[in-house]
Amino acid sequence: MTNITWSYSSLKTFEQCPKKYYHLRVLKDVKDEGSEATLYGQELHKAAEEYIKDDVTLPPKFKFIQDTVDAIKKIPGDKHCEMKLGVRLTDAGYEACGFFDKGVWWRGVADVVIIKDDLAFSIDYKTSKNAKYADLKQLDLVAAAVFTHFPQIKKIKSALAFVVSNEFIHKEHFAKMRDSYFASFDPLLDRLANAEETGVWNPNTGPLCRYCPVTTCEHNRR
Ligand code: SF4
Repeated sequence: MTNITWSYSSLKTFEQCPKKYYHLRVLKDVKDEGSEATLYGQELHKAAEEYIKDDVTLPPKFKFIQDTVDAIKKIPGDKHCEMKLGVRLTDAGYEACGFFDKGVWWRGVADVVIIKDDLAFSIDYKTSKNAKYADLKQLDLVAAAVFTHFPQIKKIKSALAFVVSNEFIHKEHFAKMRDSYFASFDPLLDRLANAEETGVWNPNTGPLCRYCPVTTCEHNRR
């Protein structure tokens, strides 16, 4: 058991570069203001949420996702947009909790979750150009958390919706597999715990050093 609180994106940051993680998440002497692409993605998520939840017309610049959000709207079931999920890890196993609850172990936000009896749908919008680097691990985590919060659900039909290229990458998740979805992150969490314990946060140089907000790093190429 670990007392680390993590999200998919925080762990991805650590995986990409422990030194970057250290500045952003531990020392907190650097803030990631987000790129133009990040801000665009946030706006699109908001527009999709408002359309699905409250029928707010999509702004002209996001009209290209009309068919996608209409298709999502037509799926029968209770719709939850930008659903904040928390999970605790105790001696008894994984337990549902609030996003900001004390002792939260993992936290994440599901773009859209639709629940109908023992079946759910989980959709994650992606605004990258295409699905070439589709990463399904994030869907595994959201599915594991949804199974934890809604124990009646047996199966989740998950999808990454690449709204720019209109590509959908599908995966099915099953309640009986829940623990294995969480456990697949253990090796990386162990490395993070080890870095916290030893205080060793090695730099990991690569093409992303060009966009890194840690401008004091000797490898930064901004
Ligand atoms: S510039 Fe590169 S090596 Fe330095 S912190 Fe950023 S990602 Fe890591």
